[in-house]
Amino acid sequence: MKSMNEYINEAEEVLLHTYNRYPVVFDHGEGVKLYDLNGKEYLDFCAGIAVFALGYGNEEYNNALKAQVDKLIHTSNLFYSVPAINAAQALTGVSGMDRVFFTNSGAEAIEGAIKSARKYAFTKDGNTDHEIIAMNKSFHGRTMGALSVTGKKQYREPFYPMIGNIKYADFNDFESVLSQVTDKTCAIIMETIQGEGGIYPAKDSFLKDVRKLCDEKDILLILDEIQCGMGRSGNMFAYEAYGIKPDILTVAKAVGCGVPVGAFMMSQRVADKALVPGDHGTTYGGNPLVCAAVCEVLRQFEERDILKNVNETGAYLYEKLEMLMGEYDCITAHRGRGLIQGIELDPNKKKASQVCKNAIESGLIIITAGSDIIRFIPPLIISKEDIDNMIVLLKQALERD
Ligand SMILES: *Cc1c(COP(=O)(O)O)cnc(C)c1O
Repeated sequence: MKSMNEYINEAEEVLLHTYNRYPVVFDHGEGVKLYDLNGKEYLDFCAGIAVFALGYGNEEYNNALKAQVDKLIHTSNLFYSVPAINAAQALTGVSGMDRVFFTNSGAEAIEGAIKSARKYAFTKDGNTDHEIIAMNKSFHGRTMGALSVTGKKQYREPFYPMIGNIKYADFNDFESVLSQVTDKTCAIIMETIQGEGGIYPAKDSFLKDVRKLCDEKDILLILDEIQCGMGRSGNMFAYEAYGIKPDILTVAKAVGCGVPVGAFMMSQRVADKALVPGDHGTTYGGNPLVCAAVCEVLRQFEERDILKNVNETGAYLYEKLEMLMGEYDCITAHRGRGLIQGIELDPNKKKASQVCKNAIESGLIIITAGSDIIRFIPPLIISKEDIDNMIVLLKQALERD
């Protein structure tokens, strides 16, 4: 058998070098643990970037997929399929949205959301110069449309020009949003809890004020819950905690727990003026296989009362990280809720990337968000004992150079 290093060297000869990967090749997983080719165990507080919410080696999930593989994997969207209908019903049920379009990824869900907002405005006034307001520090994906609303200039600049008429405001600063609004504004897009940008939850008054502004001016509020949705915040969707609803909602990551699926959803009011036949499409999007996964994921969320576990373990994690902040002066801030939390490190004292590297060497998977923040986005089935074990390994990683 080839060694892990041999595989890694081969990978670096054929894969386009767009990631600086950790030097690990995983072989299999069980619950909240992953195992590399050498059989070394890792406690996973990354969950494949907030994807694998229900744990590895999940027998019922695996069986649901296997059954669908044997039945029917793909037919295209020219026909109806039972898994897609069931998945759409389940998703509208938990989100309060009325209409669903399935995509293959988060970025594609954002593309669909942008197109829906522009089409809605076009239907209303026939103009073709509508504007979208996006947030600084946001992340919405790597395709050209999604990149155009991503608030990090380093990601965008090499690929200019972006799609036109995008303006930027500061997240959690309502005045900054107001200053970007014109009579051409058709949508405001933001994450309810910024993920990649550093785990910044929207302030209660900010999101409520933006919602009110959108209502007054018939601007569509697009909430990207690709990372913070699907139970991770302690609510099924993070916006529930604010008592508001978006007009357009995007999901991906944990919605299929590992198969490539996402969705953009909208209220009927938006759907009435948005996409119609000929406006949008996808060959794979929402095929029977991925929709069978979505159905099984939502079934397990209910059966296993995942939200209850997120709230209990999320509060416990919060307490533990607050204590850690008191003990280590390199930790300067702690944010988040449920099982999406982050600690900010003083880069002059400790580099977040180095701490993550140290942690992975000692068998704990944690990743950064932005340059100075370590983020904790474990599978949603994590236990308090797993959190205790994580803290022990994290302390070791913080104490090593
Ligand atoms: C990951 C992510 C995306 C992009 O999803 P992909 O599936 O990688 O295209 C968009 N928005 C948010 C908030 C994300 O976390």
